[in-house]
Amino acid sequence: MVNHTDSIAQLATLIKNHQHIVALTGAGISAAAGIPTLEQINRDSSIAANFSEEALEAEPVSFYAHFHQAFIDPIFNNGPTIAHNVLAQLEHRHLLDGVVTTNVDYLHEQAGSQQVAPIWSSLNINHCLDCGRIYPLSILQASVPHCPTCGGLISPDPLFRHIATLPAERAKADDCMASADLVLVIGSNGYYDNVGRTATVVDINPKPTMFDRQATLTIHQDANAVFTKLATNLHLPTTSITK
Ligand SMILES: [Zn+2]
Repeated sequence: MVNHTDSIAQLATLIKNHQHIVALTGAGISAAAGIPTLEQINRDSSIAANFSEEALEAEPVSFYAHFHQAFIDPIFNNGPTIAHNVLAQLEHRHLLDGVVTTNVDYLHEQAGSQQVAPIWSSLNINHCLDCGRIYPLSILQASVPHCPTCGGLISPDPLFRHIATLPAERAKADDCMASADLVLVIGSNGYYDNVGRTATVVDINPKPTMFDRQATLTIHQDANAVFTKLATNLHLPTTSITK
């Protein structure tokens, strides 16, 4: 039986004893907000078939009904999780250099994190299919978002690029990782795995992952449970910075 209290104390000590800490996050950190993982989307063919540019242009009303249900409603109704909030609090106190994420949900920024590299883009970038203008996340709150300038249909950038890496964000992520001496891997399945060989690694995931071999500390628990206890240990609030 693993003693989770001890592992939280170890995590707190590692955070206090390192100078350049970076978080690497994946779908697991947003699961508590009800946002589906890539695996869940691919497994459910009715969702996967609906999330394409072809589906958007053919049936915008149906596309956005599904898109709201899967992403926009959880983002706005459930907001950033405690784990997102505590990462923002750590950065605010200069205990975290930044976050590298494969998530497109923009929840780190919503929690108040400033240094975020969303390597697969984010729902804060949305294109007008007619004039190409770009709009932030808030435009997706409309039931079927249209360009305020030309009336064209809005397409979320991550969909537009079919989960391809943004070179500028990837470079930012690699820079951040290059100087990291402690990497907190949270709910990641390893879609980004450029974790420095010299950095100490902590893997926080309910299930074993590829990072466990490299990890000094593995905590097989849900991210919110871990960060709630970590916040208590470090006397941090569990609220977002922006609220
Ligand atoms: Zn337009």
